Amino acid sequence: MAWTPLSDMDVTGKRVLVRVDINVPVEDGRVTDATRINRIVPTVQHILDAGGTPILVAHFGRPKGQVVPDMSLRIVLPALEQALGQTVKFTELDAAADAIAFNKNQPILLENIRFEPGEEKNDPALADRLAALCDVYCNDAFSAAHRAHASTTAVAQLRPSCAGMLMAAELSALEAALGTPKRPVVAVVGGAKVSTKLDLLGNLVSKVDHLVIGGGMANTFLAAQGIAVGTSLCEHDLADTARAISAKAADAGCALHLPTDVVVAREFAANAPNETVPADACPSDAMILDAGPETVAQIGEVFAKAKTVIWNGPLGAFEITPFDRATVAAAQAAATLTKMGKLTSVAGGGDTVAALNHAGVAGDFTYISTAGGAFLEWMEGKTLPGVAALG
Ligand code: AMP
Repeated sequence: MAWTPLSDMDVTGKRVLVRVDINVPVEDGRVTDATRINRIVPTVQHILDAGGTPILVAHFGRPKGQVVPDMSLRIVLPALEQALGQTVKFTELDAAADAIAFNKNQPILLENIRFEPGEEKNDPALADRLAALCDVYCNDAFSAAHRAHASTTAVAQLRPSCAGMLMAAELSALEAALGTPKRPVVAVVGGAKVSTKLDLLGNLVSKVDHLVIGGGMANTFLAAQGIAVGTSLCEHDLADTARAISAKAADAGCALHLPTDVVVAREFAANAPNETVPADACPSDAMILDAGPETVAQIGEVFAKAKTVIWNGPLGAFEITPFDRATVAAAQAAATLTKMGKLTSVAGGGDTVAALNHAGVAGDFTYISTAGGAFLEWMEGKTLPGVAALG
């Protein structure tokens, strides 16, 4: 652990620049989901309790270095004040020094940092301006840590830096799942395509003991073995890649688990007439939309012997019933073992969070990461610039 948690940093009476992710959904001028705002409260409160001044810096949308009034962070102010239970001083970057001086020990919110052309360029001049506002830098935005931007990376090198409460929890959970995990470790990788998860699969096979492949990407692996998959979503051009990943897994001693039975239908639609068949018996006019019960039972057995599960991507077309069954059943199995204290379970990625919410088990996993891109890049084994900069 090269980074310092906020709890180990002396912020007494200090001005603390906190990079947060409050890029929340907004409709008709109102925040429709304040989850991201609520999650930064512990970090802000910790600084306030120490007599410090939290200066929040964040992006909102993609204004690409221009001032776009519709993308002003002013819109989140009421939701932020409600979450913190106190007034927040909003300021443009140019006026920030005065705002901070006149509002000691009160939360400050800076205008959308992506209004600055230097932000996405990781510009040292912008980092200097940000550093001049603070004594300590704190990053609480894991979901923005895969970007080397001025407010996530360059500024961190100019001041003593630390990981906020949310970032520290996320890093600790990820470290427990892939850094120094309790073995055996199982990775579950599902979703639509192999092509979007090549780096992820390549990294995982050398780190985990079992790799469960589901969803549309399993079809590509089945087809690569010469199995007919009918009209299924399948990247036939990636057959060589799928075989190379399988070979790499075998070399690394990672057991690969593909579906042995599948649920097939003639159309991609809710409640489409369907049947369960062996994985090598998909009719030529049908598509595979889910893993079957035998496969789910096998996944359950792998989970039962495991100590750690890391999960990205659904096992089937979970948005349309009844093709959510394998995802729901496997998620429930992992959740039950986690509740019994037998398993550490970590999951992340946009559709995965939606799938686990759908299965009603999101609260029972050890940790669910809501960071899409950053979680995937971390699963790919990449160094996240925003985390490296804290070291
Ligand atoms: P991803 O964003 O790569 O995690 O993919 C998630 C999407 O994959 C979801 O929208 C699922 O409906 C879809 N998916 C999973 N399994 C299948 C399948 N067998 N056929 C078609 N789409 C699938």
